[in-house]
Amino acid sequence: MSKALLYDATMCIGCKQCEQGCSEQNKLPYNDAIAAEERQSDHKYTVVLTKGDRFMRRLCMNCEDPACASVCPVGALRKTAAGPVIYDEDRCMGCRYCMVACPFGVPKYEWSKVLPKVQKCTMCSKRVLAGQPTACAEICPTGATKFGERDELVAEAEQRIRDNPNQYVNHIYGLNEVGGTSVLLLSGVAFENFGYRTDLTRDALPVYTYRVLSRIPDFVPLGGMVLGGIWWITHRREEVAEAEGGEHRQGHGEVGR
Ligand code: SF4
Ligand code: SF4
Ligand code: SF4
Repeated sequence: MSKALLYDATMCIGCKQCEQGCSEQNKLPYNDAIAAEERQSDHKYTVVLTKGDRFMRRLCMNCEDPACASVCPVGALRKTAAGPVIYDEDRCMGCRYCMVACPFGVPKYEWSKVLPKVQKCTMCSKRVLAGQPTACAEICPTGATKFGERDELVAEAEQRIRDNPNQYVNHIYGLNEVGGTSVLLLSGVAFENFGYRTDLTRDALPVYTYRVLSRIPDFVPLGGMVLGGIWWITHRREEVAEAEGGEHRQGHGEVGR
């Protein structure tokens, strides 16, 4: 059984505590200016959008079969059995294929940093693996963001729509989009109003990625070899520098420090 988040926009009061909880969890800055930013960024992994008296969250959907992971040549992004799609910055070589592949425009790049990395919500993977809810679900004062088993949250979302059909759009966003996601959304207004795509296939996108790449015979071996080679050389240099540094220190009696 994998975990998921259910966000019910009809229960959301737009307090943005989920934004703040996320920033604290991920050691990101948060102040009034950042709270006013209405887009995901390398320093804001989730955003609460406002239109009149309606609200909608955006964050990484932590797809069941993520396109971002399928195009990553070095396996820096990976879907876990527990639900979160995690990111290993030590593996990442900065090709940014994941940013192009993601159908939700989620991964962001730290353009302003000397050694930039990709940033996105990883569904509080450490907390989830430790049996805790995500920080955004834990802090939400109304239960609009709820953490739990995906199957149970799907059943609950279906029940909420059945109980109050006039209150909801008859659609659980994320149930089937791109093969399903670990973030499920309920809304009282059309999801398009908040920029959610409704033209997405019900198939997992990696199927398409594979079909497209397989029509370009040289892409996988050549692209993968070149990019993988750059990554290997970069890390090999670091390893050599580390080893040489160690020998240098040993020569100066600095063993074990
Ligand atoms: S929403 Fe985008 S970044 Fe997040 S798991 Fe899916 S493909 Fe990857
Ligand atoms: S799941 Fe964690 S990382 Fe993702 S938006 Fe919520 S608090 Fe932030
Ligand atoms: S903490 Fe809950 S109620 Fe507040 S903005 Fe986030 S989802 Fe909405």
